[in-house]
Amino acid sequence: DVVAEVAEPAPAAPEVHIKVSSRDRVIFPESDVTKGELADYYAHLSPIMLPWAGRRPVSLVRCPQGRAKQCFFQKHDAGSFGDTVHHVDVKEKDGSVQPYLYVDDADGLVACVQMGTIEFHGWGSRIDDLEKPDRLVIDLDPDEGLDFADTKRAAEHVSAQLAELGLVSFPLLSGGKGVHVVVPLTPQAAWPAVKDFADRFARALAAAEPDRYVAVMTKAKRKGKIFIDYLRNQRGSTAIMPYSTRARAGAPVAAPVSWTELRDIDTAARWGVRDAEELLQRATSRALAGWGVAEQVLPDL
Ligand code: ATP
Ligand code: MN
Ligand code: MN
Repeated sequence: DVVAEVAEPAPAAPEVHIKVSSRDRVIFPESDVTKGELADYYAHLSPIMLPWAGRRPVSLVRCPQGRAKQCFFQKHDAGSFGDTVHHVDVKEKDGSVQPYLYVDDADGLVACVQMGTIEFHGWGSRIDDLEKPDRLVIDLDPDEGLDFADTKRAAEHVSAQLAELGLVSFPLLSGGKGVHVVVPLTPQAAWPAVKDFADRFARALAAAEPDRYVAVMTKAKRKGKIFIDYLRNQRGSTAIMPYSTRARAGAPVAAPVSWTELRDIDTAARWGVRDAEELLQRATSRALAGWGVAEQVLPDL
């Protein structure tokens, strides 16, 4: 068994051609993680991260002076990241066309780190088929005061409900407080239909168990409950990408897990930036074989 687990070697770190300045600058003061370490983390993890985060519009959380100072959320840019960070034209609601960002290699990821990026959030569709999502994300946001066990139970419940509709789903630890239930899709339905499905699904769950779940954003209504955030699934919305680091204390990362593993995990911030080797090993483990992959389309609800 142990032999089978290590049979596939972890992918080697690709060569990176981006010059990272101020490598010694501390980005995570609580754990002394530097900009150089962050760049090396993304270079290392790029072979397993890019299949999820590459070639789709990304929004970046940039904190040039470190995670404890001012951060901002960036959706598009005209060219200050250099030519390893690419652009895709996206028509926005107001009719304007904006250059959204995407990466497709380790250089692109590291170029973003060079510009102060800590978090990579991605669209649920790829640049070659922007209007048709290839994944749906049910983001479970527990109210403060709930513990992780409640979130895990909710994730399993959501997954079971999806399974009843014939849909396979996978858990992603957000690296923050919650769990994302990820539903891979064959790009077929367009954004309005996918959003409509997520909306109906969330409302049905909240209607069936109003004491546990809430499907509206209103903070006051979320007391003691888990907010089923279906709003990640509208055109232009993003969700944290697997293996992205989070701009939170201790440099946690978003991490794919299996449903079986999830039972024994007691925090959404289980792995961090200093666990690169373990994350790479895990990516080829039996537990994560096939994670996030399924050919399926949404049923009518
Ligand atoms: P947690 O598990 O702690 O909830 P999370 O990644 O799910 O972590 P949320 O706050 O639930 O965090 O999700 C917010 C989502 O909204 C993010 O995934 C991101 O894609 C998006 N987002 C975050 N900041 C902004 C912003 N300033 N503007 C627009 N969208 C944002
Ligand atoms: Mn969340
Ligand atoms: Mn949310």
